[in-house]
Amino acid sequence: MSHSIAVIKGDGIGPEIMDATLRVLDALECGFEYEFVDAGLSALENHGTLIPQASLDAIEKHGIALKGPLTTPIGKGFSSINVQLRRHFDLYANVRPAISFPGTRSRFEDIDMITVRENTEGAYLSDGQEMIDDGNTGISVIKVTRKGSERIVRYAFELAKSSGRKKVTAVHKANIIKTSSGLFLDVAREIASEYPDIEFQEMIVDNACMQLVMNPHQFDVVVTTNLFGDILSDLCAGLVGGLGLAPGANIGERAAIFEAVHGSAPDIAGKKLANPCALLLAAAQMLDHLGMADKGETIRHGIRTVLETRRDMVTPDIGGTGNTDTFAQALVEYIHA
Ligand code: NAD
Repeated sequence: MSHSIAVIKGDGIGPEIMDATLRVLDALECGFEYEFVDAGLSALENHGTLIPQASLDAIEKHGIALKGPLTTPIGKGFSSINVQLRRHFDLYANVRPAISFPGTRSRFEDIDMITVRENTEGAYLSDGQEMIDDGNTGISVIKVTRKGSERIVRYAFELAKSSGRKKVTAVHKANIIKTSSGLFLDVAREIASEYPDIEFQEMIVDNACMQLVMNPHQFDVVVTTNLFGDILSDLCAGLVGGLGLAPGANIGERAAIFEAVHGSAPDIAGKKLANPCALLLAAAQMLDHLGMADKGETIRHGIRTVLETRRDMVTPDIGGTGNTDTFAQALVEYIHA
């Protein structure tokens, strides 16, 4: 079955790492049809807006987007495009795998876990922020709903089930934030009872941070609310060597958008120094999502093999002597071998 995909090349290093990623997807013969859509600085120049309506329509039509990093201009009143996309498509699940790769600077080996972060409520409300008392008191509302908790926890369990994972850990602060975090934990317990084959664990967020840095191998899928998920997923990226290898997916009912976690890296743009791994791993997540997990695994295995055996082909940020194009070339050769 062929799939059509909206592709946003992105700003800065975006076009370089996207070209590398599409070369690898083509070598895998995924049968994708691409529609290239405009967003970011080029869209601002051409259409006067960072994310034109035509681009939103294209993402809606295809239901799947592969997205390069976008630059949000500073100090001109622009709100983040990523936040706009999340709100427009109600992308409620932010899914961030953290996988160890050889030859990268990290404290642990053999980490293979996924953080599932609720992406639409919690402490990240546009209308829940208030300054009172002549600007001397700040108030931020935390809102957690049964519906929002149900769909994120169910997403985590379904992900565990479909990817052969064994355990889901719900991270919370229900002992102190009894209303919102308490509701999330109650709902997590209820949903967990529907999945008797998957081990369920609950953990208070402060303990979860300590456990993650002392014994990360005990974790498989972690599901949590927005703010805790934001922090924990970066902590997990740090455990496996930083943002250069961190992919992420934003999943909703109407659309799913796959991207690298890092930004547009203007300092190295155009120099072919950008590591394409994070976007490649996002493409692997996209393949998993589209029912092509074998091809997704080929990308992950290929990256592992190239990092182990072709240091001359990988990018300098992870100690190689190659560039963006040679990295992609090495993966294409691995696929064709
Ligand atoms: P950044 O992630 O772009 O760069 C931080 C550092 O990491 C830089 O030194 C950069 O060279 C390096 N780096 C990042 N990706 C790399 C890669 N693939 N290979 C090698 N080195 C890499 O973060 P920043 O400098 O804070 O942000 C730059 C721009 O990106 C900003 O406009 C920001 O708004 C945007 N941004 C976009 C996204 C997104 O679209 N998802 C995410 C974060 C930041």
